[in-house]
Amino acid sequence: MDGLTDFKRLCVHTMTVKRWALAEAIEGFRAAGIPGITVWRQHLEPQGAKESGRMLRDSGIEVVSLCRGGFFPAQSAADRAKALDDNRRAIDEAAAIGAPLIVLVSGAVPGMPLAESRKQIADGIAAVVPYAEAAGVRLAIEPLHPMYAGDRCAVNTLRQANDLAEELDTPVVGVTVDVYHLWWDPDLESQIRRAGPRIFSFHVCDWRCPTRDLLNDRGVMGEGCIPIRKIRQWVDDTGYNGFIEVEIFSDEHWAEDPHVLLERIKTSYIEHV
Ligand code: ZN
Repeated sequence: MDGLTDFKRLCVHTMTVKRWALAEAIEGFRAAGIPGITVWRQHLEPQGAKESGRMLRDSGIEVVSLCRGGFFPAQSAADRAKALDDNRRAIDEAAAIGAPLIVLVSGAVPGMPLAESRKQIADGIAAVVPYAEAAGVRLAIEPLHPMYAGDRCAVNTLRQANDLAEELDTPVVGVTVDVYHLWWDPDLESQIRRAGPRIFSFHVCDWRCPTRDLLNDRGVMGEGCIPIRKIRQWVDDTGYNGFIEVEIFSDEHWAEDPHVLLERIKTSYIEHV
């Protein structure tokens, strides 16, 4: 099985079908034959993590990860401590729903020098590592496109994420490769090779040309200009054989019937991933 001519490696994020509550997403994924789910924390509400875990275990759908932790930098020590508490809560939630992994969007504070944000991110991840180890939950640093460096994430290249993961040097911390954030980077192939077994997860969607909104205009695979298959091959060449996660933030696609969107995702997965 290579998982590429069938759907064995296909995972979809609950944010891709944002309007569905978790119970609807579970039913929709089952109907569409999608074997993996990455759960966003907002979809743990209103039923809570414990009940969500029961629903997910009963569904037979594999929980790939929980999105998201992170957002470590803050102007005050009190706010940085709050961020650590929230990350520990996310780790508890991941354990409760059977998610082996939390994806970290590291954070950035407008006006704070990036070097300071990056130092606070390194310190923040280091501070929650023991808690993650004890819970048996891994942490993946996800670099975000540099257009988000001002307010969302000061880790913007896979090289930076690799540097951070290597410095922390624990089997609990790895990286997420998301084609949307990284496809433009001339060092991407070499940094994917360098990451190797530290690649904990792999996200796909497409970069629309032109992009009409910096956050919510991602395309289904094939709607944009990312060489998704080539990047997927680089990732697989490292020995990665985990899920391929479809994560699409899109006002356009959120307006569609999610059942129809899931079928389009399956078609484009076969054709473009
Ligand atoms: Zn992602």
